[in-house]
Amino acid sequence: MPEAGGLYVHLPFCPYICPYCDFAKWPHRRSLAERYLAALEAEIAAAPPFTAQTIFLGGGTPNTYAPEQIAALVARLRERFGLADGAEITIELNPDLALCEGFDLYRAAGITRASLGVQSFVPSELETLGRRHSPSDVAEAMRRARSAGFDNVSLDLIFAVPGQTAESWSASLEAALALEPEHISTYGLTIEAGTPYAAWSEREPHAFADEDAEAELYGIAIDRLNAAGFEHYEISNFARPGFRSIHNALYWANAAYLGLGVGAASYLGGVRSMHARELNVYVTAALAGGPIPGEAERLEGPARVGEAAMLALRTVEGVELTSFGERYGIDFLSYYEPVLREMLGLELLEVTLQRVRLTRRGRFLANTVCGAFLSSDR
Ligand code: SF4
Repeated sequence: MPEAGGLYVHLPFCPYICPYCDFAKWPHRRSLAERYLAALEAEIAAAPPFTAQTIFLGGGTPNTYAPEQIAALVARLRERFGLADGAEITIELNPDLALCEGFDLYRAAGITRASLGVQSFVPSELETLGRRHSPSDVAEAMRRARSAGFDNVSLDLIFAVPGQTAESWSASLEAALALEPEHISTYGLTIEAGTPYAAWSEREPHAFADEDAEAELYGIAIDRLNAAGFEHYEISNFARPGFRSIHNALYWANAAYLGLGVGAASYLGGVRSMHARELNVYVTAALAGGPIPGEAERLEGPARVGEAAMLALRTVEGVELTSFGERYGIDFLSYYEPVLREMLGLELLEVTLQRVRLTRRGRFLANTVCGAFLSSDR
């Protein structure tokens, strides 16, 4: 039986490059984008046996490709990886309207979920982030998505943007809610080494939010989105009932996934791997029939358990003690007793008969908690 799980496909071209971004991405050039699609096709043909339960087209900016190209890619993926009819297929979209002409074709291809990279509804913040769409573009993209039949739309927002205040962040949340999406993701801005933002933060550290200011903004999002009926089901993700991301849930459940494309990560047969992030290296290797250079690591023993615990703790359900214990052959509470004792003392975790999960305070310090499980010297 082939492994089953989430299929991720990386489409790395963007209409422009944002100064905070550390993803594997390149400015769009038609000839390069065509060659990349041919490389992806070659990788699809050479891919290991795998049954896709979900597909996620991420980037980059997938909608730099023509809608017809996206539809053909999805058809090829469905055929090759045996996706069930009606299964979740997500596409990430830049709400720049010139790139948002394809909703009807996406729907016809079986794409069920659109994720719009909104980031902010405040024009000055969009400018700071180097984004070229306007808040009204987002409203129009949403209207087009709805009229094409998308009933599952997610909006991405960023907090801790330089210049952002509690008021402007609240305004973005209100504007997002006014568009009635099914799902909202909120990400704290991170300064990634080597980006223009990293240089900016070196020059002007005070332009960037400190931990307390960032926590305040995160708290505002949690309270407002909960009040609006969104379930805070994962550290960065909020959904109306029935609209959690099924694809991302597979990651948090430590399920198998296959990643295709430059820099894409996979977890197959207990091995985590990542393709090279150099575009030329990927394209050349894929067109030659593979293998794609990159890194691979077999997760075993405590590293495997720690990784699974870290992923599960991101979710509102946390670690479900019985099923986790059966899957990894451990008694979670005794296996992690010292870490649990420390985290309980700090009121970052709560333990019930069934599960261990983050407290509200723990969600603000999730990296600390997850890091403690990963580095626990078992
Ligand atoms: S943030 Fe998105 S649109 Fe901007 S460069 Fe990165 S991948 Fe491209």
